[in-house]
Amino acid sequence: MNRLKNNEHQTLCARCGGQCCRTRPGIEAPERFLALPDPAAALATLLLQTEWVLETHYGVPYTPGVTAPDPGRIIQYPRPATLSEQGKDSVDITAADDCIYLTPTGCSLAFEARPRMCRELIPDSCFECETPWGRREAALAWLHHQDIIQAATAALVPQEGFRP
Ligand code: SF4
Ligand code: SF4
Repeated sequence: MNRLKNNEHQTLCARCGGQCCRTRPGIEAPERFLALPDPAAALATLLLQTEWVLETHYGVPYTPGVTAPDPGRIIQYPRPATLSEQGKDSVDITAADDCIYLTPTGCSLAFEARPRMCRELIPDSCFECETPWGRREAALAWLHHQDIIQAATAALVPQEGFRP
């Protein structure tokens, strides 16, 4: 996992009420899993616990000289589930809801354990918070690690009731 400076701003985020955590939880980068001996097994464990889900990104973001636009391609990446997604068969990206790790006093995960998108979000005093690592960056990061996703879901398919 990359080491990012803790940029939490608890006073500001308390005033905001955690709006970023009440819509769609942040996406994690592949590095969390690549740092482990069996990345697919680590991801499969999180999915099986129903605390995490796989979200689908449609298309490959265009990066001149690096990636060509490919609107027909699907990229999957992992993030914590929302309360309404937990234990469900599918992810509904149109339904905003609280992240399962959100508590009345903020995120229950230690800063280092949070998804990269959460750690990179920069609190703004006008609540126009932005991140240098968003969905585009997540899609590009996971583009060449879809084998981990596929191996994780393949390991889970025999599990009763699991749908990636
Ligand atoms: S990072 Fe921004 S949107 Fe998220 S809780 Fe803090 S102030 Fe609110
Ligand atoms: S993991 Fe924590 S910081 Fe990220 S969306 Fe969930 S509650 Fe918010």
